Amino acid sequence: MPRILVHRGATLRERLEHIGWTVTAAGCWEWNGARDSRRGYGQCSTGDKRRHSDLAHRLSFRAFKGDIPAGMFVCHRCDNPPCINPDHLFIGTPSDNRQDMLTKGRGNFARGERHGQSVLSDAQVANVRFEYARGGVSYQALATQFGVSKSCISLLVRGKSRS
Ligand SMILES: [Zn+2]
Repeated sequence: MPRILVHRGATLRERLEHIGWTVTAAGCWEWNGARDSRRGYGQCSTGDKRRHSDLAHRLSFRAFKGDIPAGMFVCHRCDNPPCINPDHLFIGTPSDNRQDMLTKGRGNFARGERHGQSVLSDAQVANVRFEYARGGVSYQALATQFGVSKSCISLLVRGKSRS
């Protein structure tokens, strides 16, 4: 019997519920679906044609709490990467996220850079998002500043590439 796929117009919440999670003794909702092999974050399909999957905890935040401001990160209070409990998640700035990861000994900011295709370092990506989130700066200005294309900046800012 073929696996029943979640319907195309499903909400984020329906997509998350379709895969499901396991509640731990600590109250974490551990993602039952695929996980990022390096960081352990859950991954989930978004239904967005341009970006087929995103990190499950980011989708959970969007489904239960609301939009993630551009340039901001969704961090875990519980330090449990596969956890998608919205009550364990909070919005942090790039520097919060970095501090959070450093504090928890997971400060591997080279992760995207190792793919070899990335033009910008992760720190630069965080900076691009941070600068844009502060406002008053155009994609073009950021493109010039960071030496990449305007469309690259647009993708980064809109969270379609690398999170
Ligand atoms: Zn948790």
